[in-house]
Amino acid sequence: MSTQFGDLADAPASFVIAGARMLDPSDGSDGIRDLVVLDGRIAAGSEVPNGIPRLDGRGLIVAPGLCDLHTHLREPGGEGAETIASGTRAAAHGGFTTVCAMPNTDPPLDEAARVAWVISLGRGASARVRVIAAATRGRAGETLTEVEDLAAAGAVAFSDDGAAIPTARLARTALQGLGPTGLPLIEHAEDPSLAAGTMMRAGPVATRLGLPGWPPSAELVIVQRDLALAEETGGRLHLTHLSTAAALDAVRRAKDRGVRVTCDVTPHHLSMSDAWVAGERRFTWDEPDDMAGALDAETAFDGRCRVNPPLANRDDALALLRGVADGSIDAIATDHAPHPPERTLVEFGEAAPGMIGLETAFSIGLAAVDAGCLTLAALLAALSTRPAALIGEERGLRPGAEADLVVFDPAARWRVERGALVSRSANTPLLGMTLPGVVRLTVAGGRVVFDEGMGLLV
Ligand SMILES: [Zn+2]
Repeated sequence: MSTQFGDLADAPASFVIAGARMLDPSDGSDGIRDLVVLDGRIAAGSEVPNGIPRLDGRGLIVAPGLCDLHTHLREPGGEGAETIASGTRAAAHGGFTTVCAMPNTDPPLDEAARVAWVISLGRGASARVRVIAAATRGRAGETLTEVEDLAAAGAVAFSDDGAAIPTARLARTALQGLGPTGLPLIEHAEDPSLAAGTMMRAGPVATRLGLPGWPPSAELVIVQRDLALAEETGGRLHLTHLSTAAALDAVRRAKDRGVRVTCDVTPHHLSMSDAWVAGERRFTWDEPDDMAGALDAETAFDGRCRVNPPLANRDDALALLRGVADGSIDAIATDHAPHPPERTLVEFGEAAPGMIGLETAFSIGLAAVDAGCLTLAALLAALSTRPAALIGEERGLRPGAEADLVVFDPAARWRVERGALVSRSANTPLLGMTLPGVVRLTVAGGRVVFDEGMGLLV
């Protein structure tokens, strides 16, 4: 089966997909119909000129293009692990039409010229690249960046991801300073004094493995601090990669009070528990209740299971999954964090935290749907329409809209292996596992950016 990539500089596409299930969380529609795309726009079904390619959509689902709020593209400075070109191909392969590039590159994206440079490289990429600018100069946590200039250059949010804004005073000033831009502060909620020296989530598994444990309070104290500051200043706060039920409860209560707060969770914090560090390889919803005693000597201490925040315990992971199901979590964001092998295939305590996610996120979500933990509509809302809305992007399958969509086969399965991934990096504990859901076609901004066997890119 041929696999092809296109890019956003290609000519707009025209095609018909006949008899596919069209599922659009933007208006709740869900039904079998023909999708007509003419010159990059969705057209009403009746007006199809001759000579337009007609594809068989039976058994396939069409949904709005996925939007990732948290992607590490590693360019500039980490091109051995990923580039804007390779990372956006990985995005298109995973059904994403937008990625938000995180600013913790080398040098960091803390100046307008650097933001503009990344955006210009993204123009010929295989997915739309939006930029999250650094909140403080050099991400040093001392002086705020020039937010108005960065916003004018195209930044869609601000974050010192990798670390929290170090002091309440600075976080408060940032929330106030962002007010005129209307853009959110994206917080990596982790108190460094509580997280320092830890390697995995505190609990029975950490105790048994003898690894220093990260207490859930490391996340909660920053979440509570920032919620208080957002409430007081009226600033827009987005909490990324939440990993504890306690933090989610605090967010729910703040939302009820009208605080301008949103949040996301990663696919790995939903699907993998801290037992994965001991070698478990079943998803949280398939794990038996009493995993406390199990240790798989062959897969334990895999550095690719080290992430920040660390993988949650199973109860918290399942609570987060309920948060996606009930909509109190706004988005699933990958925290795609490519690393070369020499940084992850090492002793657990030496491993660089983070795993890739763009090519596996949708399949993990579909596995949760197959397990009955989520509806497909809730999954698609958390991966497409809701994160897109947070950065001001429209999504939807209505006639007249720009074609921005993913076509996937929910019944097909694929094996995660180096040769199946287009990211420059392969640091994921999912290698060797078989996952549901194969993306067949990704159309970004009216252009076919990924085609697996549909015949539009040959
Ligand atoms: Zn982070």
